[in-house]
Amino acid sequence: MSRKPTIAVVGSLNYDLVTRVPRLPDLGETLTAKSFGTNCGGKGANQAVAAARLADRCEKVDVKMVGAVGGDGFGNEMKEQMRKHGVDVESVRVVDGMSSGVAVIVVDDATGDNRIMITPGANAAVTPSSLPPWLFNPSTAPDIIVLQLEIPPETVQYIINQSAQIQPRIPIILNPAPAVPLDESIYSKVEILILNETEAALLSGVSFAVREEGAERQDALKRKAKEAVDWFVKRGASDVVVTLGAYGAYYYDHQSGDQGWFNAHHVANVVDSTGAGDTFVGAIAMNYVQLKHAEREFCIEGGVSAATDAAAWSVQRSGT
Ligand code: ADP
Repeated sequence: MSRKPTIAVVGSLNYDLVTRVPRLPDLGETLTAKSFGTNCGGKGANQAVAAARLADRCEKVDVKMVGAVGGDGFGNEMKEQMRKHGVDVESVRVVDGMSSGVAVIVVDDATGDNRIMITPGANAAVTPSSLPPWLFNPSTAPDIIVLQLEIPPETVQYIINQSAQIQPRIPIILNPAPAVPLDESIYSKVEILILNETEAALLSGVSFAVREEGAERQDALKRKAKEAVDWFVKRGASDVVVTLGAYGAYYYDHQSGDQGWFNAHHVANVVDSTGAGDTFVGAIAMNYVQLKHAEREFCIEGGVSAATDAAAWSVQRSGT
């Protein structure tokens, strides 16, 4: 009997403390906020939950989270919430004596734009030696591993190298967020690279600062995205997607060599764009695994289409 399709997300869990403000405050300014709330977040956890919630709607896929929380109330709550959304959290360790990761998020109530500050806490304890043995055992290994950079970069590098050692090799989705300088050899070792314009700019050196407005702005951003994609492809990247918020996403398909653009859906009532990119990544992982198990070929254009739909839903709700 064939095993259930499995996505493993190795990454961060952060407890989000979210303040909504009428506008983002200036330096040194104190503003009265409109509201305060808490959320379970972290790029890893968000991507796992996005994938699990999409799995609920279609063919059942196992989504396993690998990570760490502190021995505090935030940690318990995050594991419980993820479990409720259908994520397997057996491989989320509780590290006593450390705090859970915490994200302080300020959201502009008028536009949905955000500013985020993160304390890594127990996410820093996701080291190569702490990884569960099932991850690289050929009989239990997942169909795909999803990685971000809110855990130590050595761990991310280790997983990418290890996944190439086993047969068949485990495909990797890398969302290099938040961007930190990376060894350029990493790009040729991942199946799908997904990053937003800030990350693309930081890693490739292509500036996305454009002066144009309206439709011309979108065209200028597309040109920048193409430049950045070309930079990653020159360094051996396979499929690449650069997301540009409400504008959409630019992709490169390594099989056909095609590049293309997907407009984001027009959403009239954007409530909060925090986590749109995480939903996007989770949806591409789900699309990849479902097609593989249906013995159909994944192509990045189809993945971006599914992810654009899912991300448009996510911006209509508060929190990640
Ligand atoms: P991140 O959250 O990583 O910064 P982006 O903001 O680029 O990611 O968003 C990822 C994707 O989510 C976009 O390519 C788009 O499809 C969708 N998206 C983001 N913001 C909006 C929006 N305001 N309206 C509709 N779709 C959006």
